[in-house]
Amino acid sequence: MSITSLLIANRGEIACRIIRTAKARGIRTVAVYSDADANAQHVLLADQAVHIGGAAATDSYLKGEVILQAALDSGAQAIHPGYGFLSENADFAEAVQKAGLIFVGPDPDAIREMGEKDNAKALMEKAGVPVVPGYYGDNQDVEHLAAEAARVGYPVLIKAVAGGGGKGMRRVDDAADFADALGAAQREAKSAFGNDRVLIEKYVLNPRHIEVQVFGDRHGKAIHLYERDCSLQRRHQKVVEEAPAPGMSEDVRAAMTTAATNAVKAINYVGAGTIEFIADGSGPLRPDGFWFMEMNTRLQVEHPVTEQVTGLDLVGLQLAVAAGGQLPDTPPLQGHAIEVRLYAENPEKKFLPSTGPLHGLELAQGPGLRVDSGVLEGDAVTMFYDPMIAKLIGFGANRDAARQQLIAGLGRSFVAGPKANIPFLIAALSHDGFAAGAFDTGFIEDHQADLINGATADEVQQALLVAAATRLRAEDASNSADPWAASHGFRVSGLPGLRSFVFAFGKDDHTLDVSFDGAGVYRLGDTILRIVDGAIIVDGVKIVSSCRVAGDSYYVGLNGRTIELVAQHPFAADGFEEGGAATSAILAPMPGKVISLAVKAGDKVKAGQQLGVLEAMKMEHSLTAPTAVEVEAVPVAPGDQVDEGAVLIKFVDEESA
Ligand code: ADP
Repeated sequence: MSITSLLIANRGEIACRIIRTAKARGIRTVAVYSDADANAQHVLLADQAVHIGGAAATDSYLKGEVILQAALDSGAQAIHPGYGFLSENADFAEAVQKAGLIFVGPDPDAIREMGEKDNAKALMEKAGVPVVPGYYGDNQDVEHLAAEAARVGYPVLIKAVAGGGGKGMRRVDDAADFADALGAAQREAKSAFGNDRVLIEKYVLNPRHIEVQVFGDRHGKAIHLYERDCSLQRRHQKVVEEAPAPGMSEDVRAAMTTAATNAVKAINYVGAGTIEFIADGSGPLRPDGFWFMEMNTRLQVEHPVTEQVTGLDLVGLQLAVAAGGQLPDTPPLQGHAIEVRLYAENPEKKFLPSTGPLHGLELAQGPGLRVDSGVLEGDAVTMFYDPMIAKLIGFGANRDAARQQLIAGLGRSFVAGPKANIPFLIAALSHDGFAAGAFDTGFIEDHQADLINGATADEVQQALLVAAATRLRAEDASNSADPWAASHGFRVSGLPGLRSFVFAFGKDDHTLDVSFDGAGVYRLGDTILRIVDGAIIVDGVKIVSSCRVAGDSYYVGLNGRTIELVAQHPFAADGFEEGGAATSAILAPMPGKVISLAVKAGDKVKAGQQLGVLEAMKMEHSLTAPTAVEVEAVPVAPGDQVDEGAVLIKFVDEESA
């Protein structure tokens, strides 16, 4: 029996990804969508789409009953949960099966058994799989947990048993910090998973995250599809993933994949899963130097790298297994693939998510590149969901070829509107340590200064020329119909055709005096700017760039970096200083909830001092003092919901004080 109609209980790139395979197999697809996603790509791609509720995930993508009803009403035979949302919700899987539909995933019991990290560890220990030493018990008393942490030995890692996505996790190096870290982990866990139970693990030094893709079928077969290295992380969240793992030897691979397939067999697992290991990266990988962390009972974000090196379609395999089909043998490993997660976030501002309309979106295509995306130019990144824009995957015969493809592809990609992490990703992939394969999960934190860089003066200069050319080109186009209205011969200051453009970059204004020199040729001081068939040529050199204009903002893309220039109007009122509030107050960078405040009016604080915690997008963000300053007022209280831009802490204005 095969599946002929499928409801996809997800959104974004993974919904689009699943629809692609379903379509290729002639399966009818049903999308579900929230208020925020009425025109989203997954909705447009599917054969049918069902509205399931409000924008917040809790009102839509997490509403199991509503989604199940949508499947029944639309005549879908099976439900694919994607990743996140309901993908690891055993009750949902069970309800789907009870309704007589196929859940494209493991049996509810397997999800349940593996869903809590403590239980999963106990099971794996029984199956002979090495696990990280630690405390996985029921007693959640602060004193008891602290005593267990001391027994395990510092540094330790506190982890939410229901955890995922690095949430509810804290590393503690010193017993004195244990209680605070525990409180933060429990709060984060409670708000993200509704369960604040934690476990304590030995923190493995120089850790590398290496996971094995596994599959089981209903005929008792268990296979592995090699490993992925996901060690490049930020705050325990994966940023770059690759297959195979750098420095992997045949004997370590054999030990790891055998442990992983044993784990699958031990629980009669059916479907796609991932066994995550933490490996000792202080030297070469060893057959006795890796330990089970957890099992994910679903498709992973990083599954494309496995597809690239095995030639298999993992969604296709999931559908085949769900329909009762048999698994193939593990195919040979071919080449190397590296994936990056392209996020709408601002690395220069502590990676804060950045939302809004995508005025521009160009994702590089070409040989050796794969793009998995769920948005197009004109769509928006909203605060309701994960701000991932796309995944870019580079592949080739070996690691260096894959890496070069990906770096080049990122350099040809462009995001206008929300800030994007492309320059950061390029810097990480280009770093000598990464190129050499010598990295652990601390890599990004250890090399922050090398990886996060603003635009150089040269780049700003080039961007100004691109913006000026874009403006001239637009004026040309709008004037060409009416030769009498042509602006290039226009006199402003007595010189023929002299024009002045002013663009602001951050707080700095840049003036460009442009004179017309002949058709498509302009002079800016000593620089000759030519616009030929839309191409911009500066002193004979073609500038490869993208540009989008939205209101007064000119978004110029150069080598993967987007530089936002704001056109200034010569006679506009003066005195509005953008970002002027930054040092006089701390504003909420996005909507969120105030968790705690450590200061009150009259307190004098030091630069960098932690003043409070805001929870937004299910993560806690520290509020830190920008400079040494005195607190004037704290207009909010713990528990308050605040809008983006709300004043959280106001400082005494130095100048007026
Ligand atoms: P989550 O389910 O929240 O993703 P994981 O248990 O998968 O949590 O761990 C996430 C990441 O945290 C790992 O990839 C690794 O970088 C780090 N980590 C987890 N356990 C340990 C450990 N015992 N020692 C060192 N690092 C760890």
